Amino acid sequence: MGISGAPGVGKSCLIEVIGLHLLTLGHRVAVLAIDPSSPINRGAILADKTRMEKLSASPHAFIRPTPSSGTLGGINAHTREALLLCEAAGFDVILVETVGVGQSEIAVANTTDCFVLLQLPHTGDDLQAIKKGILERADIIAYNKIDIDPLAAQQAMMQTHQALKFIARADPWASASVEVIGISALHNQGIATLWQAILQHHQTLQANHTLIKKRNAQTITWTWDLITQSLEHDFRTHPAVAKTLSATLTAVNQGELTPNQAVNRLIQQWKSS
Ligand code: GDP
Repeated sequence: MGISGAPGVGKSCLIEVIGLHLLTLGHRVAVLAIDPSSPINRGAILADKTRMEKLSASPHAFIRPTPSSGTLGGINAHTREALLLCEAAGFDVILVETVGVGQSEIAVANTTDCFVLLQLPHTGDDLQAIKKGILERADIIAYNKIDIDPLAAQQAMMQTHQALKFIARADPWASASVEVIGISALHNQGIATLWQAILQHHQTLQANHTLIKKRNAQTITWTWDLITQSLEHDFRTHPAVAKTLSATLTAVNQGELTPNQAVNRLIQQWKSS
């Protein structure tokens, strides 16, 4: 499952409590936590592991914080491979945590079976999510920190529930109704209910044979992502392109070339040698 949400919403706390809950149910849990990279050293902040203190101490849990290294979508280029590796290593629940930076929600939804969007009441999160098209992707929406103002949380959940009726689902296999659940990761409230909703979502996908279709479509998306990345790398490092790229971009910047003209010129150079 994927977990996304704005920084500070409580993703790491949730992973700690839901991870511990899963251990008591006899599961083996892997966590792939994608940290925002520092633009200077490209290193992961590695704060996540400290917030998953108990979980990381369990021999039945594996936590791997990885820098997102500036990858579009906050999903590390190797997240999908790491996911397969965790599966092969016998972890039956794999949690992928991403930073909530717009594209990351789409990327994590394209990588996991169930995408849980974490929200806070009263922060405008809900509107942001509608604007960015994230609600179309979420399989489950969890409002965290309901302990702070339970009434406000109830209201936010009801509003989101209403809003969801008018939002078309992005994928043909997306569940028709999206569960909206209130939780408190800090006080371990609603965690079992959230896990039940995730299980229910999974069972529905399996019952109508959409899980396999969803995973197949994700594999095709993965393939295209790799093609795009590989072509871009090839383009950027091509000797003829590399020689003129900087000057061409400067020309675009100064209005001497339109972006179209620049692209045509660079692609010509790329193809012709
Ligand atoms: P992340 O950046 O999304 O991973 O958020 P964290 O898990 O680091 O949580 C950010 C802060 O919110 C921490 O200080 C947590 O203790 C606090 N927090 C997380 N969940 C809850 C909750 O359910 N209730 C309250 N009151 N605080 C919470």
